[in-house]
Amino acid sequence: MKRYDYIIAGAGLAGLMLALEMSKSSLKNKKVLLVDKDPKNTNDRTWCFWADEQFELDKLVYKKWDKIRFATNKSDANYTVDPYHYEYIRGIDFYNYAREKLNACENFTQLIGDISEISPKGFIIANNEKYEAEIIFNSIHPSFDNFSYPKGECYYLLQHFKGYFIETEEDFFDLSAATFMDFKIEQHKEARFGYILPFSKREALVEYTLFSQNLLKKEEYKSELENYISNALGIKKYKILHEEFGIVPMSTYSYQPKFDGKIIRIGTYGGFVKPSSGFAFARTHRRVKGIASDLEKYGKVNASSLEPASKYKLYDRILLSILEKDNTATKDIFEKMFTSLPASVILKFLDEKSSLAQDLRVISLFFFDKRFFFASMREIGRLIWK
Ligand SMILES: Cc1cc2nc3c(=O)[nH]c(=O)nc-3n(C[C@H](O)[C@H](O)[C@H](O)COP(=O)(O)OP(=O)(O)OC[C@H]3O[C@@H](n4cnc5c(N)ncnc54)[C@H](O)[C@@H]3O)c2cc1C
Repeated sequence: MKRYDYIIAGAGLAGLMLALEMSKSSLKNKKVLLVDKDPKNTNDRTWCFWADEQFELDKLVYKKWDKIRFATNKSDANYTVDPYHYEYIRGIDFYNYAREKLNACENFTQLIGDISEISPKGFIIANNEKYEAEIIFNSIHPSFDNFSYPKGECYYLLQHFKGYFIETEEDFFDLSAATFMDFKIEQHKEARFGYILPFSKREALVEYTLFSQNLLKKEEYKSELENYISNALGIKKYKILHEEFGIVPMSTYSYQPKFDGKIIRIGTYGGFVKPSSGFAFARTHRRVKGIASDLEKYGKVNASSLEPASKYKLYDRILLSILEKDNTATKDIFEKMFTSLPASVILKFLDEKSSLAQDLRVISLFFFDKRFFFASMREIGRLIWK
């Protein structure tokens, strides 16, 4: 049996980000084992996020935009995100970078292995071998086919999408803005929108996205995406270079127990995805920085490093309770925000970095909206009587 200080189970976004943070501190002297069943040598996903300051992964940014487009049948405009940029990193570039950096750390071992057991007693079984550690960081979320959110305990939607990286025969894309949400499509009594990241006038990632509780059939994603490209966008001739599919939870589920014996949950499985937006990249980065800093200072992880500030939990509960009941409200709520406030304020609010004054600018938009009034009363009541 092999012993380590830390085992990172699942070396995807959260696992690799955590290992990179550890490798930059005195934790590089600890014995760390990273295990993933996948060699991570394909561009299996790509990440967008917004940033206003430099950080280590800046050098991996493949493309960035100064504006984002938000569109409905009533309003369609590009909004500047200054002081942010809307930034895009390809999964494969991140995996290669992390692998190379971690290979250079002599105490870090990267293992390709299928983990069949993770024990609170402090061991994992991978490829039928046992590995022990003082702390196991677990980022292995069960498949969404076998995972159900406890009813009555949390609000949830799934953000699910299919995307094509396409090349058109003629110049088509406007490079000045990334389309954040294009609601100018049939909503099917749900929240459905197009998402476009233009890389050149002829190349872009085009996605068909839904916020809903039920997944579509495989062929429906394909037909809706192709319908969006050829009918809504009017692109008749294009080549598909690559495809992307994703299911991201948007849930107020507490993902307990966060600490279970020697196991600590991280990543999507630790609730690192922002419940009301489905964005996870920047949030994950913040959380793993907190974890590494705790380990360095105290030799353990504080519960507070795994959670957002209480006010954001409350805002997420209020918004998701409304959207879970009627997800068609997504379009109107986001439209009101984009047409009334600078995009930078919205992004700051979604990024959980807003001041109270900025929160009030967002909240005041919905002050006289009955749905928000009743949802706020209910959720504040829950907090008080809990
Ligand atoms: C296609 C796609 C696009 C996305 N785009 C964005 C975006 O633009 N912006 C954003 O903020 N978020 C985005 N997300 C959401 C989120 O950032 C990602 O899902 C992110 O990868 C979550 O990180 P994670 O570490 O929790 O999970 P993962 O990155 O999925 O890592 C979990 C790892 O566990 C491994 N694993 C699973 N089972 C086992 C096992 N039995 N044994 C060993 N290893 C195992 C997997 O191979 C995987 O590498 C996207 C998600 C997807 C799927």
